[in-house]
Amino acid sequence: MRFPAEPFRIKVVEPLRRVSREEREQAIREAGLNIFAVAADTIYVDLLTDSGTSAMSDSQWAGLMMGDESYAGSRNFFHFRDAVRDIFGFEHVIPTHQGRVAENLLFSTILKPGHVVPSNIHFDTTRANIEHQGAEAADLVIDEGLDPNALHSFKGNLDPAKLDRLLTERGVDKVPLVMITVTNNSGGGQPVAMANVRAVREVCKKHGVPLFFDACRFAENCYFIQQRESGYANKSVAEIARELFSHGDGCTMSAKKDGLVNMGGFIALNDAEWTQRLTNLLILIEGFPTYGGLAGRDLEAIARGLREVLNEDYLAFRIGQVAQLGELLMHAGVPIVRPVGGHAVYIDARRFLPHVPQERFPGQALVVELYREFGIRAVEVGSLMFGHKDANGKDVFPQLDLVRLAIPRRVYTTEHMRYVADSCIQLFRDRDRLKGLRITYEAPMLRHFTARLEEVTEEPVAR
Ligand SMILES: *Cc1c(COP(=O)(O)O)cnc(C)c1O
Repeated sequence: MRFPAEPFRIKVVEPLRRVSREEREQAIREAGLNIFAVAADTIYVDLLTDSGTSAMSDSQWAGLMMGDESYAGSRNFFHFRDAVRDIFGFEHVIPTHQGRVAENLLFSTILKPGHVVPSNIHFDTTRANIEHQGAEAADLVIDEGLDPNALHSFKGNLDPAKLDRLLTERGVDKVPLVMITVTNNSGGGQPVAMANVRAVREVCKKHGVPLFFDACRFAENCYFIQQRESGYANKSVAEIARELFSHGDGCTMSAKKDGLVNMGGFIALNDAEWTQRLTNLLILIEGFPTYGGLAGRDLEAIARGLREVLNEDYLAFRIGQVAQLGELLMHAGVPIVRPVGGHAVYIDARRFLPHVPQERFPGQALVVELYREFGIRAVEVGSLMFGHKDANGKDVFPQLDLVRLAIPRRVYTTEHMRYVADSCIQLFRDRDRLKGLRITYEAPMLRHFTARLEEVTEEPVAR
């Protein structure tokens, strides 16, 4: 597969320390076979997440020096507000220190117990913030979006028929807003089509419900629209973004993704009354409305990052780099989720390790070995992350056991990606020697962050 070479050159380098296999073996043992507990400087290629891990440009770094740290009315706020207005088209712009605070402000302001918020698939922090208000988070992605083998250009689409049904059954009084996540992170970074946004907009209009976007990866989504959706090939990604958001009433965003910064977020919206209520709460928990939990310099870096991320040479490289990793793996027979999304490649761990049963955490076994053998950090998205015990103490497992290789923006070269591909392929050839795992400690909630595990050789007892 051909894709453009890096549309940037390297001005500052961060040395990567290559530690020996013995050191990694010791580090992962001490970490209880949990990759979250491994020190980052023992890792060669870190694909844990694409969030907050971007490399900033020279212009962004220069922007940091232009930080105006006035308590109120910092000039950087106005640059930030204008960038958000230009790109997203919403009138009111409220800075927050990361995406989940934007969600918390929005949902604690407008949700009541018993409400429902539909989306294609809610991201974990979005779902948690909705549930924290005693409301329900409903995932209404199209059926293809749940099938790891279905080939569909816009697997992130929200099913308008499912939405119409939910709004009719629950009644608009129970649904204060509808959300669309672009791209659909929890569904593999799959894009949402403009035609789908229009269709969802129609349903929202019919019922009189506002539409918000979770805009974390908006530029990647708009690039997919340009490449895949008819009628958009000759439009710029910036034009596509304006059109996309013109169908909505507001958005939340973590700037740690397509803002190309290491920290930051915002809410943007048109409704003046909601803005006032959000702002009152913002002052209570984040700060004055012209900084919202961020330094002036951070606001400047976001303002610049939001404009840079729309550069189409960058996006062609970015999406191409992720797609190429997927293709290299696929050609070698490594089972991955298809089509490859915008920010990550997902390995299907159950097909990779058919001899490791689900209760032996095949995804985590693969994550441990990728680190131990190759110094690569991936993350399990499967039985360890989502599995739990039901009321009778019986294990409940998710539908899929995946290993996510998330690619930080502008950080790793094509050669790093080749190293990752070669390592996964080598492990695939050696897969028979991998053993399953057993949990020795787990917390009552979000166990994957702190669980400890050990390797097991014997077969699990039949259920
Ligand atoms: C990362 C993310 C969030 C939360 O943002 P944070 O900055 O991590 O708080 C919300 N939604 C989506 C889709 C995300 O990817």
